[in-house]
Amino acid sequence: MTYKVNDMAYAYSANDTIKEKGEYGGAVTTIMKYLLEENIVDAVVAVEEGWDLYDAKPILITDPDDIIKSAGSLHCGTLNLAKFITRYLDGARDIKIAVTCKPCDSMTIRELMRKGRIIEDNVIMIGVNCGGTMPPVDTIKMIKEVYEMDPTKITKEEIEKGKLIMGYADGTEKAFKIDELEKEGKGRRENCQRCTMNIPTNADMALGNWGVIGDLNGKATFVELCSEKGADIFNKVVDAGLVEAVEPIEKGIEIREKIDGIMTKNAFKQREVDFAGTTGDVLDVLDKYKDDLSKCIKCYGCRESCPLCYCDDCCLETEGPEWVPGGYVPAAPFFHLTRMVHMADACTNCGQCSDVCPVEIPVSKIWATVNQAVRDKFDYYSGIDNGDTPLPFTEFKDTGTRDYLKRK
Ligand code: SF4
Ligand code: SF4
Ligand code: SF4
Repeated sequence: MTYKVNDMAYAYSANDTIKEKGEYGGAVTTIMKYLLEENIVDAVVAVEEGWDLYDAKPILITDPDDIIKSAGSLHCGTLNLAKFITRYLDGARDIKIAVTCKPCDSMTIRELMRKGRIIEDNVIMIGVNCGGTMPPVDTIKMIKEVYEMDPTKITKEEIEKGKLIMGYADGTEKAFKIDELEKEGKGRRENCQRCTMNIPTNADMALGNWGVIGDLNGKATFVELCSEKGADIFNKVVDAGLVEAVEPIEKGIEIREKIDGIMTKNAFKQREVDFAGTTGDVLDVLDKYKDDLSKCIKCYGCRESCPLCYCDDCCLETEGPEWVPGGYVPAAPFFHLTRMVHMADACTNCGQCSDVCPVEIPVSKIWATVNQAVRDKFDYYSGIDNGDTPLPFTEFKDTGTRDYLKRK
């Protein structure tokens, strides 16, 4: 069978070692290994476990035998790999890479491709489903205090049927309702709670365990092919006998859609809560958050961590800007207003800025509020295929205004 864009399959590795070590049959690991072995890419960008399960770090892999290091998912892996590609790989200008992407990675990478900062032809995006990630330190505390379990022994964290499950290798499990945990400020990061993309269909292929039922439950990965590039790679690994692929069970497809539907619906509900009390207009948002923003210590952490804040020469660092009387560091509203102008159309709600803010300003929520207004007004969705929709604020359609001005 030749797979095409939009086709779906259950897939697992034909290599027993990878099948054992890789999650859900090791399809992702096998595909990445193949891409390196065949020199289709020079390197793989992924995430590996650092100090412990709660410490994710980016890794650049060039030896196919090292791919296995990145196997398995880390629910405290809150990184955004787009930043790694622009900062350390010059936007993949001179290197061909494959990257494992959760949806906020693939959205940010797509947005940077649209803006010419990442070279699309040099990047293969292997998407993995994501129902949310959790802040490491708070999660360790929650496991001790709420679950009364030992965080060092946890081998399983899963969200299933509305519950956050923690488990040990011996099968011991405890579960609590995720919405109740989140009401108390525990559980997923706050940006994840309003994330409307759980299956990264904007990557070249989207993989995950949702919808794998029957005999292959837990032993295979659900694959959806999302681009010609993705379909071509999948056909190659299947034809080479490296990955076994079978038709997915219809009921499984429905279950996957249902999980995605419920999570998306909840995220839109959360957006209503998060964006209440403002129209999304920039000044209106600044007004709503003025007390929070007044606490800003101008550490520039949010700018540094934001994968979409990419100017080589930042205007916030020019010496003695005229609009800051007598000082070199812009006052809080100007600092944020400047970033807001740059970020309004681009923000992908990735949460990096809130993660680093030392004074706990809800930076991600603020930018997401403005970005929602841009979505609504311009019909432009950062990081998602917008077809020919012009980039808000930077690309212009001739609406005849010029002729009007001429007449004047
Ligand atoms: S923002 Fe979305 S894709 Fe990113 S970690 Fe959170 S839930 Fe996952
Ligand atoms: S402003 Fe914050 S949430 Fe938005 S893209 Fe930048 S780091 Fe991510
Ligand atoms: S990370 Fe927080 S304190 Fe630092 S500049 Fe950004 S908003 Fe201000």
